[in-house]
Amino acid sequence: MKDNYDIVVVGAGPAGSTTARFAAATGASVVLLEKDRDVGVPVRCAEGVSEAGLTSVLDTIDERWIDNRVSDVMFHSPSGKIVELRFNQVGYILNRKLFDYDLAHMAIKAGAELYTKAYVYDLLRDDDRIVGIKFTHLGKKYKVKAKIVIGADGVESRVGRWAGIKTRTKMRDMETCAQYTACDVDLSSKHLHLYFSSRVAPEGYLWVFPKGEGRANVGLGISGEAAKKKSPFACLNEFMAERFPHASLLNCFAGGVPCDQTLATIVRDGLMLVGDAAHQVNPITGGGIAPALIAGKIAGQVAGQALNQGNVSAKAFQDYPRRWHKAEGRNHQIFYKLKNYIYKLTDEELDSIADAGLKVPKEKRSMITLFRAALIKKPSLILDAVKVFA
Ligand SMILES: Cc1cc2nc3c(=O)[nH]c(=O)nc-3n(C[C@H](O)[C@H](O)[C@H](O)COP(=O)(O)OP(=O)(O)OC[C@H]3O[C@@H](n4cnc5c(N)ncnc54)[C@H](O)[C@@H]3O)c2cc1C
Repeated sequence: MKDNYDIVVVGAGPAGSTTARFAAATGASVVLLEKDRDVGVPVRCAEGVSEAGLTSVLDTIDERWIDNRVSDVMFHSPSGKIVELRFNQVGYILNRKLFDYDLAHMAIKAGAELYTKAYVYDLLRDDDRIVGIKFTHLGKKYKVKAKIVIGADGVESRVGRWAGIKTRTKMRDMETCAQYTACDVDLSSKHLHLYFSSRVAPEGYLWVFPKGEGRANVGLGISGEAAKKKSPFACLNEFMAERFPHASLLNCFAGGVPCDQTLATIVRDGLMLVGDAAHQVNPITGGGIAPALIAGKIAGQVAGQALNQGNVSAKAFQDYPRRWHKAEGRNHQIFYKLKNYIYKLTDEELDSIADAGLKVPKEKRSMITLFRAALIKKPSLILDAVKVFA
């Protein structure tokens, strides 16, 4: 490894690999550092993504990335009513190990260098200027100089904090998740299942994402506040005992999702944050794969342009937050407000919204018609909706 690059990217998840790929494509010298021994492992994700989410950045979708295709979603209300909705586009349940691997490979093919087992533990400074990073690799300490440092270090990101950016998430906005990949589950492979109820998943939701061949990612995310009263694994185990008592569990993990608005500051002189590190997740669904790809592409391109113009100040990076907010960030602000309103719904209200949804013929159901039905059922929502969209 050299001791000097144009760009150091910290973290080889979807955000880091995509940023590295698009930055390297502009001719910049890029090194991508990943603390784990392998890219994409361990998987901490339910692996659901829409086709549009992938094709917004990727030219082709490799069949190897797709474990399963889904066409419908079943919303389960607290009392067990099920509202079925057809997606207007195909949904994928990915194999993230292969997907993340290939994203990293694309970055390498574009000219980036990748090192795993490379744990970044601090920034390198010259007076106040960020001029690189410090990392450990196989027990030894190293320093690498860089004109730009990009923090793509996920939900546990520290790069932003080291640079003095306020990165804290309120407990309520940090979805605390637990998931099993279960096998021997009796499920249609075409349907996603989402459960909303204060008993099953307080201030959040539970998902069942079929991966095909009798396997499924079964998990839930509940707000950090709710998790203080009951742990996500306690909630998940109750659900598993009721719904899939005979399932065998292939893996289990816990993780967090920052279901927040994008951080107010995602660029500093010589520094950018991307993906979960910048809180770019969709705050309602917790989906962060597509946003990480979109933000990574923009950040990589803007970093390359800034280098070509010989200016790596925060001002020269402004195109990144501007293009991000135009693409996704503004919608996320609306989704964030909507999320807070959905959390306030009682189980009775969720049930009556399900009743209203069931009255809409299946072929006419969409998220819009369901929302309209909810407004009729609970007119006070109109006021909330006005507040959200105003
Ligand atoms: C339970 C759960 C279910 C989810 N389900 C979905 C879903 O179905 N669909 C969806 O779209 N999203 C889902 N998400 C969110 C999605 O996984 C993330 O939003 C996405 O992975 C963000 O990509 P990223 O590159 O920003 O971060 P990550 O994928 O977390 O990558 C960050 C990388 O940085 C590395 N790193 C961290 N610190 C350092 C360091 N100091 N030095 C070097 N490397 C470092 C990490 O090892 C990691 O590889 C889920 C998340 C959870 C927790």
